[in-house]
Amino acid sequence: MDQVHEQKCAACGGPLRFDPETGKLVCDYCGTVYEIGEQEEPQAEDTLEGYDFDQLSAHAAAENAEGLPIYNCVSCGAEVIASSQEMALTCPYCGNNIVLTEKVSGNLRPDGVIPFKITAKVLPQVLKEFYRDKKLLPKNFFNDSRMEKVTGVYVPFWVFSGHLSGRLQFKGEKSSSRRSGDYIITDTKHYLVGRDVSMDFKDLPVDASGRVEDELMDSLEPFGMEDVKPFDMQYLAGFTADRFDRAREDMAERARTRMNNSATSLARSQVTNDFSGVRLVGGKLQADLKARYLLFPVYLFKLKHGKQQYSFAVNGQTGKIVGSVPTDKKVSWQYFLIRAGICLGAVLLIFFVKYMLGR
Ligand SMILES: [Zn+2]
Ligand SMILES: [Zn+2]
Repeated sequence: MDQVHEQKCAACGGPLRFDPETGKLVCDYCGTVYEIGEQEEPQAEDTLEGYDFDQLSAHAAAENAEGLPIYNCVSCGAEVIASSQEMALTCPYCGNNIVLTEKVSGNLRPDGVIPFKITAKVLPQVLKEFYRDKKLLPKNFFNDSRMEKVTGVYVPFWVFSGHLSGRLQFKGEKSSSRRSGDYIITDTKHYLVGRDVSMDFKDLPVDASGRVEDELMDSLEPFGMEDVKPFDMQYLAGFTADRFDRAREDMAERARTRMNNSATSLARSQVTNDFSGVRLVGGKLQADLKARYLLFPVYLFKLKHGKQQYSFAVNGQTGKIVGSVPTDKKVSWQYFLIRAGICLGAVLLIFFVKYMLGR
């Protein structure tokens, strides 16, 4: 098996890229269009037992001074340095889109991918709409800013489904009051309430890469599972991709916690219907989980305004954008004054009306 697979046009040898608009592979040089799966994908022998991260880099031809693996570009022969997570990238010398096959083989092969659905072309418009209703922006902020280079990256996720079952114990109270002469007597009875839990969970995503901010990724959700396609290297053409660097078992723990929390709060809300002062006092839940290793499409870019930089991420399937909004101190101060003025005006008006009515 070759270490490097290049996404190359069979007709002219030009670099191929996956086109989100058509969902096909396109050669920008000669215009040839390929269906996904039409070009042959090198079939990996399952040589990688388990996934020993250290062992992986040993498969590369050599290492650079910092210990990063070096690959040789098949097209131009240049040495390409990849981080240990990168599995798809563009050769900086000849522009060919390459996949590091050992990182998508055997146990490292993703189960599926949500291909990019929106193109990078629409991002300026998405950004413009994001800023449209932000009130505290510095004047002319958008026009004075510059969008830095956009990277489309497939971010690895563990997506968990499974069944949660068990029994939870709550303590609850029921109170009743009655009057007896000058006293009000309250009787409180305490109950131990058991609740059986049996819940199915489907497609709970947990970001499997330590290289992207968790909170940023959480806010990009949801990703629609209806677009998951069986993995094919060709979806990666023209984009970068990272393989997971957080083990499935560690992330399963996080998924379990999320499932436990939502099951517990659901059970608690049911108990609260009948009792007051409800408290969880015991119980045990067991999760039976299955994980899929999926790649989700994300655009990352920075917006530069003067010396400031603002980071953005866009869901490459839905166009949902998350990022920071600068607030102009002068503008927000004015905004505060206007609001304070309105409040003061309203208070004065009330006094005035009261005064008039009182006369
Ligand atoms: Zn071509
Ligand atoms: Zn090259």
